Amino acid sequence: MKPTTLGQKLEALRAGFPVLRPGHVWLVGAGPGDPGLLTLQALAALDAADAVVHDALIDPRVLELVRPGARVERAGKRGGGPSVPQDEISRRLIALARAGKRVVRLKGGDPFVFARGGEEAMALAEAGVPFRILSGVTAGLAGLVAASIPATLRGVNQAIILATGHAAGGPEGLDWAALARTGQPLVIYMAMHGLAQIAAALVAGGLAATTPAAVIASATLPDERILVAALGDIAAEAERAQLEAPAILAVGAIVSARDVLAAAVARLKAEAVA
Ligand code: SAH
Repeated sequence: MKPTTLGQKLEALRAGFPVLRPGHVWLVGAGPGDPGLLTLQALAALDAADAVVHDALIDPRVLELVRPGARVERAGKRGGGPSVPQDEISRRLIALARAGKRVVRLKGGDPFVFARGGEEAMALAEAGVPFRILSGVTAGLAGLVAASIPATLRGVNQAIILATGHAAGGPEGLDWAALARTGQPLVIYMAMHGLAQIAAALVAGGLAATTPAAVIASATLPDERILVAALGDIAAEAERAQLEAPAILAVGAIVSARDVLAAAVARLKAEAVA
């Protein structure tokens, strides 16, 4: 019989999904926060797992989707805060798999974007533990959507640069001047700590201080906050507004499209509530 209800449709789809087997580890992207942005495969994996090892940034509403009775452990880094060393996380995943568990390693956004998913997958491969990677919606792109900023616009940009501000200012930091010279918009993860340095480096590297910029904090979450300012002012304004991580910084002409789109989106939202 053709499935008719949403539940039946989901069940029919699920029959074609890969199966999480005992002794296997799946590195699963949880998306930017809103549980509605989980993939269907991620949802099914949470329902199949015996053990879920998750990052600090995972929304509680996502963790509620874990199969009752499954073991839920928190591991992972949060800028500056206490963190479990990476080796220890990999060792834990391997131990759970060898104990015959169906293991989900749940990571914010996409597991392969600034998330050490690559490192964990390599450790699993070396240990001979079977694994699979499930992609997730990365915060850099979902954050732009949340702020009504198109990642690409014809005639405006031909690339979108995803970068990390993690090591900004340090010896391992990026060559911001080189990125500025591309003239392409930047989306910078982990930007809050080094926000002033990054903005200054981009201006020193040749971007006009008037270049449109936006900080998008807690995108898709109930406490989402969006700040738009000129690149030269963005750090001071973000401090004044007390914006906090997790947040991305978007820089470039694409940010201006928000002026037009955000008003229309806000009207729609207001109508939806009314
Ligand atoms: N793997 C993740 C990124 C992990 S790095 C992904 O693909 O999205 C953590 C950084 O992601 C944060 O410092 C922040 O820059 C960004 N981030 C994660 N969730 C976010 C959210 N809801 N809103 C804005 N930025 C977010």
